[in-house]
Amino acid sequence: MRISVTMLLMLLSFAAGAQTRLQLKQAELLVPRPWKQPVRSFVSSSEAPACDTLDTSDPAVKLILCEDGSWHYSKDFSVLADSSVFRKDWKTNVLNPYNTRLESLPFRITLSLADSASRFVCPCQVKVYSPFGRRRGRYHSGVDLPLPKGTPVPVAFDGEVRVAMSSRGYGNVVIVRHACGLETTYAHLSELKVGSGTWVRAGDIIGLGGSTGRSTGPHLHFETRYDGFAFDPQWLIDFENGILRQGVYVLKRRYLDSSCRYYPESEDDEEQILLSEEQERAEAERIAREKAAEKYHKVQSGDTLYGLALKYHTSVAAICKLNGIKADAPLRIGKSLRVK
Ligand SMILES: [Zn+2]
Repeated sequence: MRISVTMLLMLLSFAAGAQTRLQLKQAELLVPRPWKQPVRSFVSSSEAPACDTLDTSDPAVKLILCEDGSWHYSKDFSVLADSSVFRKDWKTNVLNPYNTRLESLPFRITLSLADSASRFVCPCQVKVYSPFGRRRGRYHSGVDLPLPKGTPVPVAFDGEVRVAMSSRGYGNVVIVRHACGLETTYAHLSELKVGSGTWVRAGDIIGLGGSTGRSTGPHLHFETRYDGFAFDPQWLIDFENGILRQGVYVLKRRYLDSSCRYYPESEDDEEQILLSEEQERAEAERIAREKAAEKYHKVQSGDTLYGLALKYHTSVAAICKLNGIKADAPLRIGKSLRVK
């Protein structure tokens, strides 16, 4: 199974280390080249009915044999359903149930979007007419794609429908959670075709295009979110050509920001990002070292700021600055003062 090979490569690349150059080369191994290739939107009409299902070494993946002799891999949803991804912050009536702090997320998040067992179907192949990000002083948390009313809207990836409801702003909206932790949102639909808890395969119709909610005309408002943080869907999808840019996409944490719009990435950016990560890590280590060097003093009867400054080889001004107090502030017995 290809997935286990990737895991092995990931482990190998994590285990090795040393020179920055070497690390850069190994970091590239985190996502092997073939997985960085674009994935074309899958056309489901070519598939014959299934006649048999076989197990594979991965319990979550089955082999489907079709009547015309063809075969394909397929994800077993009953196995996926046990994954914590589909339990954590699972609310069917809240648009964004997550309560994650951005800083708690890793610098880079690997999203396994499509492989031989998980396909991609472009929800709407058309040029984006309103991009992600700030516009006219307001924040646009997705992309707007022109779509005539009544057009079937396919889901982009396999997953479970978390939200299928009517909301004031989004109108009829469907939010689907995917196995990699990604959520995709389909808003302003004229009709919903699924309910919360429905398992969908990429390409299944989740609703019909419309203009419900705060909308000025028929279009699909499409969002991609990770742990509740919206990011530009164009990092993942080239809507005009109906192509997923990479089967496995490494999402940078700094993209989870309303001011960060998609721009074509180059190899140079990759190296720059890896290097800046090194710097960020060094900065985090420096802060940790400083934190470890901090010193506190519990105020006792008779203590004065001047006395403490002498005792800890510092100055009254420095102690005042560290604690945000004035030099003539009375010291309370038992209070902890930072002196270094
Ligand atoms: Zn929109």
